[in-house]
Amino acid sequence: MKIEENINLSNYTTIQLGGTAKYFIKCENTADLIKALEFAKEKNLKIFILGGGSNIVFPDSGFDGLIIKSEGNEIKIISETDDSVEVYVSAGTDWDKFVEWSVDNGVTGIECLSGIPGSTGAVPIQNVGAYGQEVSSSIKRLYAIDVENSEEKIFSNQECKFEYRYSIFKGELKNKYFIAGIEFELSRVKDVNFKYPDLRKEIEQSEDFKKISSRIEKLRFIRNKVIEIRKRKGMVIDENDPDSVSCGSFFTNPVISYEDYKERLKRFPDFRLISSFPAKGGIKLSAAKLIEVSGFSKGYFENGVGISQKHSLALINKGGTSKALIELAEKIKAAVYNKFEINIEIEPVVV
Ligand SMILES: Cc1cc2nc3c(=O)[nH]c(=O)nc-3n(C[C@H](O)[C@H](O)[C@H](O)COP(=O)(O)OP(=O)(O)OC[C@H]3O[C@@H](n4cnc5c(N)ncnc54)[C@H](O)[C@@H]3O)c2cc1C
Repeated sequence: MKIEENINLSNYTTIQLGGTAKYFIKCENTADLIKALEFAKEKNLKIFILGGGSNIVFPDSGFDGLIIKSEGNEIKIISETDDSVEVYVSAGTDWDKFVEWSVDNGVTGIECLSGIPGSTGAVPIQNVGAYGQEVSSSIKRLYAIDVENSEEKIFSNQECKFEYRYSIFKGELKNKYFIAGIEFELSRVKDVNFKYPDLRKEIEQSEDFKKISSRIEKLRFIRNKVIEIRKRKGMVIDENDPDSVSCGSFFTNPVISYEDYKERLKRFPDFRLISSFPAKGGIKLSAAKLIEVSGFSKGYFENGVGISQKHSLALINKGGTSKALIELAEKIKAAVYNKFEINIEIEPVVV
C-alpha cells in the first residue's frame, strides 16, 4: 500500500476542481483499507472516501487529511437460477463496466444506467438513477466497513433506506462506512426496460430495434441508445466535450405535494411552464425547467464556470474555481426561490 502526499484533487474529479490532499491512499481490498484507517488513526487525520470523483466538489483549499480512494475490479457470480443471477461487485469496479457486463450476459435491471461515470461502491450512496431505473431496485445487500472500528456490517436493501437520490449513507450514516462490495440481483426473464418517455420514443421509432429478437441484442441496443442520448446532453465523460467537465446534474428535482402544486399554479403564473411528473410523495418538478424559467439558460457563463450548453442542470468548469462554482449554484438557487419560493437542492457532495 503506497502512501502518497500532496496530491492534486482536481486530477481525481470529473469537474476538475479541488486543491491538494495532504495524504492519498488507493485501496483495492479490505486489508488495504484497514491499514489506511490505522494510518489515519496514528496520525490523527480526518478521512474522506473517494470513488471516481464524479459527484464531488472539493474546496480550492484541498483536504487536510487522508483521501482513501477505492480501486480494484471484481465481478463474481454468486448464484444463478433460470430466472435470476446474483452478482458480487467490488467497490472500485468501474460502474459502466459492470453495466456492460450485465448487458453482455443478457440480464436486466441496470441497462438504463449505462454511461454513468464513477465506481460501483458509490452507486448506493445517492441511489443512482436515470432513464426510468434506480439502482436500489437491483441491490440485494451490501458489505460495508465501519471506518471507526474496521468492523464489517452487511446492509440489506431495506436497511439502506433508499429514496430518490438518497440512502442512509447520505443521511445518518454519512461518511461512517466504506462500502466494500455490493450484491446485485439481476433478472434473466424480466423485459428490457425502455419506459422512460425520451428513450421509449426513440426505441419505438427505430426499425432496427423491431427486427431484433435476441434478448442480449435488445439490451445492447437499449444501452447504446441511452449512451447516445446521454452524449447529446453532455452526460457522458468525453475529453473532447467541454460540457462534460461536470458532476452530472448539479441539482435534484424537487418533489412537492399535490395541494402545494395546485396552490403554486394559482400564485405564480409561470409555474404552468414547469414540467412535472407524478412521484412518490406528490409531484416531481423539473429542476432544469425551474432554472430556465428563473432566468438561467444553457451556456450561461461567469468566472470560469457556467451552465452546460447541452443541459441546464449541469454546471461546468472551464478554468474556474470551486468557490466560483458554489457561488453560481447559490445564485441559481436564489433565483429559483425568488421566482417560485422553491428550494432546489445541490446533488453532488460538497466537501
Ligand atoms: C457526466 C456525468 C453524468 C452523471 N449522470 C448521472 C445520472 O444519470 N444519474 C445519477 O444518479 N448520477 C449521475 N452522475 C453522478 C455520479 O456519476 C454518480 O453519483 C456516481 O455514482 C458517483 O460515483 P463516484 O465513484 O464518482 O463517487 P464519488 O464522486 O467519488 O463520491 C461520491 C460520494 O460517495 C462517497 N463514496 C464513494 N465511494 C464510496 C465507497 N466505496 N464507500 C462509501 N462511500 C463512498 C464519497 O465519499 C462521496 O460522498 C453523473 C456524473 C457525471 C459527471
